[in-house]
Amino acid sequence: MKVEICNECGRSVKQGSGLFVNRVRDLDNITTREENGKPYPNGDFICIECDDKLRGNK
Ligand SMILES: [Zn+2]
Repeated sequence: MKVEICNECGRSVKQGSGLFVNRVRDLDNITTREENGKPYPNGDFICIECDDKLRGNK
């Protein structure tokens, strides 16, 4: 069962949310996300806006 929120900003990425289309599946598990300091580690996705930010920081 996937949790359809962005694990960076906590917003919904469900179909119809506006962030559904370009959402990115986060393949890390919750423990890894917590270790990485994710604000919403239970979210199984990253929205396109946060994905852009993360890529920009690399
Ligand atoms: Zn986000």
